[in-house]
Amino acid sequence: MLKDVMRKKLREQGNRVTAQREAILKIFEEVGDHLGAEDVYQLLLRRRRRISKATVYRTLELLTSMGLLRRLEPNEGVYRYELAESSSNHHHAICTSCGTIMNIDLKDLENSIQQAAESIGFNMTNYSVVIYGLCPSCQKKINAETEMISSK
Ligand SMILES: [Zn+2]
Ligand SMILES: [Zn+2]
Repeated sequence: MLKDVMRKKLREQGNRVTAQREAILKIFEEVGDHLGAEDVYQLLLRRRRRISKATVYRTLELLTSMGLLRRLEPNEGVYRYELAESSSNHHHAICTSCGTIMNIDLKDLENSIQQAAESIGFNMTNYSVVIYGLCPSCQKKINAETEMISSK
């Protein structure tokens, strides 16, 4: 069942809790974060949900504007989504080559971030850290390619 928090949020904003919206939020609850529209569409198909691709795209955007989902852009024009609620306790490392998103834990940093905010008189309500670079498998790929070139 969909979390009550989410239902409430949907209703508060005068949006109906339609079966489609609920089905999409459930996917995120059960499968996890960092899904693209295509992933969501495929997962819905597997669950025999008849929902058009256009509706999936539209609903993801709607849920994002309502603050239930958070949209990430690992590569230009490529979007991934996650539940806004779960995104508040992890941060991201994004591979600029393949677009993989990995979670990072910054518990040790939290105090320093808090202090940094206070030092400029800021009352911090939230923060987000994104690390850009190459994921382990892309590094391996690049290393293998350079080895091939140098061994020629
Ligand atoms: Zn995430
Ligand atoms: Zn990568």
